[in-house]
Amino acid sequence: MGKKRIVTASKTEMDADNEKSLRPSSLKEYIGQEKIKNNMNVFISAAKQRGDTLDHVLFFGPPGLGKTTLAYIVAHEMGVNIKVTSGPAIEKPGDLAAMLSNLNKGDILFIDEIHRMNKVVEEVLYPALEDFALDIIVGKGPGARSIRLDLPPFTLIGATTRAGLLSSPLRDRFGVMCRLELYSPEELQEIIMRSAKILNVEITPQGARELACRSRGTPRIANRILKRARDFVQVLNMKIIDEKSAKKSLDFLEVDERGLDNNDRRMLHAIIGSFGGGPVGLDTLAAAIGEEKDNIEDVYEPYLIQIGFIQRTPRGRVATRHAYEHLQIPYQEGTVENERFLL
Ligand code: ADP
Repeated sequence: MGKKRIVTASKTEMDADNEKSLRPSSLKEYIGQEKIKNNMNVFISAAKQRGDTLDHVLFFGPPGLGKTTLAYIVAHEMGVNIKVTSGPAIEKPGDLAAMLSNLNKGDILFIDEIHRMNKVVEEVLYPALEDFALDIIVGKGPGARSIRLDLPPFTLIGATTRAGLLSSPLRDRFGVMCRLELYSPEELQEIIMRSAKILNVEITPQGARELACRSRGTPRIANRILKRARDFVQVLNMKIIDEKSAKKSLDFLEVDERGLDNNDRRMLHAIIGSFGGGPVGLDTLAAAIGEEKDNIEDVYEPYLIQIGFIQRTPRGRVATRHAYEHLQIPYQEGTVENERFLL
């Protein structure tokens, strides 16, 4: 189901092609996430002044917010090479050892979805991160022994949608941890204007604003929606994306004015219709709507929580009054039996 969603934050094959051209290449061009930019600016300048490598960095937050982009930017600003891989792609300890021993001094190794790395591989990483060394086992059985190989100092940049799923020894080895937040409509509007310029798409600020409000706080979705709106406007001979044509194309894509698609609405309807507004546990909810738990936690919830449609309580998810109003379902005081449990 997730694959077909226009508002899915996960990367699709189509995104991969054009993301490169839309990706900002310096901190200056990177819109939003001011705190992270300021911090990274300081760390990068300090490391450069000392002629040091940068500390290991972990970026975490929902998909499509710019973690990979930041990793490339850090490499660019540090003037070093970056090697890119992902947790599930590193199958054996030997794969990681090969990658690490190919790094040059100061290089960056970027591991996306680092929480999905297997434990045996992770253990190779510990001495590499701490002492810049690889412990290799030579031989088998009683004669086996471990030899230590030195590595050049390097920087690991890890990205994850869930910092909570990292083992604590791994988490402790990151000197810098940055949490990316969902973007405001103003920031997304700016991102859309920038992307439109790169893609040669005519758009008015109001048109960009309309698309921004329906992008679930996520630049990847904003860029995708921009491209779909461009197609729509072109086919209908409307030439420019203004407020009216933006609205029309989003209605056509069934993305409503709050950025919710059919799947979000289905989930809210399930909480309200089948569970009396909640609280409902994640497992029950996932089973009820036939969706993966991870998808609910990583993609649906962060945005629905941010716009105040859902609240997490110790006993499960609760739909708020705003969700009822949005779906035009009458809300009665006490509908949510456990309002007092709201955090
Ligand atoms: P993540 O790694 O968090 O899933 P990406 O770094 O792949 O996300 O970002 C997805 C796309 O969104 C990028 O190709 C880029 O075009 C756009 N993007 C992300 N963050 C920004 C930003 N701050 N400013 C402009 N564009 C951005």
